[in-house]
Amino acid sequence: MNNDLREALKKKVSEKIDALTSDLVAISHDIHAHPEENWVEYHAHRVLTEMVSDNGVRVERSAYDVETAFAAEVGSQGPTVAVLCEYDALPGIGHACGHNIIAAAGMGAGLALASVAEEAGGRVRLLGTPAEEGGGGKIEMARKGAFDGVDAAMMVHPSDEDNARINALAVQHVLATYVGQAAHASMAPHLGKNALDAAVLGYMNIAALRQHILPTERIHGVFLRGGDKPNIVPKETEMDWYVRSATFESLQELKKRVAACLEAGAHGTGCHCKLEWVKNPFADMKDNAPLLGAYAANSAQFGRVFSTEPTPWIAGASTDMGNVSYLVPSIHPMLAVAPKGVSLHTPEFAEHAISAAGTKAIVDGAKIMAMTAIDVWASASLREQMLDDFGDGAVPEGVL
Ligand SMILES: [Zn+2]
Ligand SMILES: [Zn+2]
Repeated sequence: MNNDLREALKKKVSEKIDALTSDLVAISHDIHAHPEENWVEYHAHRVLTEMVSDNGVRVERSAYDVETAFAAEVGSQGPTVAVLCEYDALPGIGHACGHNIIAAAGMGAGLALASVAEEAGGRVRLLGTPAEEGGGGKIEMARKGAFDGVDAAMMVHPSDEDNARINALAVQHVLATYVGQAAHASMAPHLGKNALDAAVLGYMNIAALRQHILPTERIHGVFLRGGDKPNIVPKETEMDWYVRSATFESLQELKKRVAACLEAGAHGTGCHCKLEWVKNPFADMKDNAPLLGAYAANSAQFGRVFSTEPTPWIAGASTDMGNVSYLVPSIHPMLAVAPKGVSLHTPEFAEHAISAAGTKAIVDGAKIMAMTAIDVWASASLREQMLDDFGDGAVPEGVL
């Protein structure tokens, strides 16, 4: 594709997104006003799929056997770019991760790309990916082929600053259950085996371990059940933990140390400990450098300038986009919608997710993604560089 055509296509998608802006903002605010948790994003699923079909694009509801997922593909030839929409919310604090913005920006990019795909000789796959806040909708969808044949996958996430990367850690969720022996806590404590003591010791072992892990590792947990009544020696207790590490590989080593800490609590108290490693662990995010370079180049004209250099000692959150990044070249840039220092997952952030800065992030994010997708369609050398950076595509066991 020559440069004139590439620039003409970028202008077209930009104008299409301008024309869609009021609808995109409306759907963002609608999703924000109807926060839904993991796997039950029925309202968002309905309004988003209606918007796709209202724009003349065929949409598959409950795609890839995931009830609240969707998919729409346009284009009959050329490279395939996947644009992802997230739309799940958090318990109690609603859209404090601003996934309403992710959904609207993805929708804008997807519809704009759909309008030029045939002319450009490229394909776009717009994917609605539920259950990012734990659960792993993208992983379930990937198992059913959602990323088969995809040359590049992208999404944007709101934040307190513009950033190339999320620095996502790999994370494994684990439930620890301790079982001991109930007894009267005053008359016959010697007959009891205290499952709360076991859990507390397990917790304290991890508290000691935390001094001796890498700055990019995180272990954090809560007690779910601690016993029923003080005069009964607790028979059964339960804790919920997240274990995070810089890579999926290093996570496996940290999991062993965490297991030893938790099990030691049981050994010391004569209790049993059962660890349930919850399915769909999230992998770290492997940002594709050439794709990120193209994104950054398109981003600069919107005044969103940032370094694309890796920041290896910064620990971020975790996302199932990490698993996608092991399957196909992927990026997960961050867009400022809140003042610096306003953290994701706070009620304050939820307010910024429907602010004027939120609207600007939807429009900018949609345009930057659409322009970057056009670069992928247009440039064989960019695609070659992306594949070089991606490497051999080996997927460690457990990522999928
Ligand atoms: Zn979040
Ligand atoms: Zn999020």
